[in-house]
Amino acid sequence: MTVRVRFAPSPTGFVHIGSLRTALYNYLFAKQKGGKYILRVEDTDQTRYVEGAIENMIEALKWAGIEHDEGVMLENGKLVQKGEYGPYIQSERLEIYQKYINQLIENGHAYYCFCSKERLDEVREAQKERGETARYDGHCRNISIEEAKKRIANGEEHVVRLKLPENHDIAFHDVIRGNVVVNTNDLDDQVLIKTDGFPTYHFAVVVDDHLMGITHVIRGEEWVPSTPKHVYTYEAFGWEAPKFVHLPNILNKDRKKLSKRQGDVAAEDFKNKGYLPEGLINYLALVGWSPEDNQEIFSMEELIEKFSLERVSKSGGVFDTDKLNWINSHY
Ligand code: GLU
Ligand code: ZN
Repeated sequence: MTVRVRFAPSPTGFVHIGSLRTALYNYLFAKQKGGKYILRVEDTDQTRYVEGAIENMIEALKWAGIEHDEGVMLENGKLVQKGEYGPYIQSERLEIYQKYINQLIENGHAYYCFCSKERLDEVREAQKERGETARYDGHCRNISIEEAKKRIANGEEHVVRLKLPENHDIAFHDVIRGNVVVNTNDLDDQVLIKTDGFPTYHFAVVVDDHLMGITHVIRGEEWVPSTPKHVYTYEAFGWEAPKFVHLPNILNKDRKKLSKRQGDVAAEDFKNKGYLPEGLINYLALVGWSPEDNQEIFSMEELIEKFSLERVSKSGGVFDTDKLNWINSHY
């Protein structure tokens, strides 16, 4: 089986160094295994779109020396898409999501929901007052497809939700964290298609990772709570899920997630400050991954050779500017 991995950023402005490290680990893993590394653009949240963000992102990755084999590329200042699994920009894949959501609805694994925002807010408020966790109450689960189609023909606004069975354990194996089990009673019937007809991230990511033949999903740990929903969606389609690898966050000195408020977090900030791409990449590789020996200075080729997912730590790595400076001074 050929390894196929992807880096799937949302074009919201800049490349956070945490994302840069995610891209790097995907790249190192693919290169070591003789696999393919794909760049997919996840732009289904139209409210967050930032003009020029895709181009910026690709430039930043290129600067860092992390070049992809397939997907969205920049050629002479123009975006092009390369590879047989395209399009690789999610907003250009709407027909595909439509086709697959229909399949889930027909199979009884998804349903139309007509609840207004006001109704959902009321339900949530009441649940909070009773000290319960806020969850969709399943109000539309039993509307028949025929009735739903009539209401849609009448112009009623709707979403499509995943129909999770009650009290069902969903389990998956994470390469770094081991087995994770979540009961569906702790999960919401996730919205898969929004009122604007666009898929949510949760639906698009499953359809695309499957259709693009992704073998390993390597991404940030903030997606761990979402993964059971994804795993269930794979089951509902009868598809085999890829392997999951959730990377620990990069932390600040207080062991909180590194965020923009604390200063430089964008790859571009480091570039503008005069850091060398080799230095930044060498350093980022070591935030969360440790080699077998005490080597600290690595070329990209050495990283490709020595990197292993097994040696990525479960706990977050602390960002240390002194260490970055020390490594950078070797280039
Ligand atoms: N678009 C998601 C993000 O930017 C990608 C998550 C994933 O890799 O599945 O965080
Ligand atoms: Zn509803």
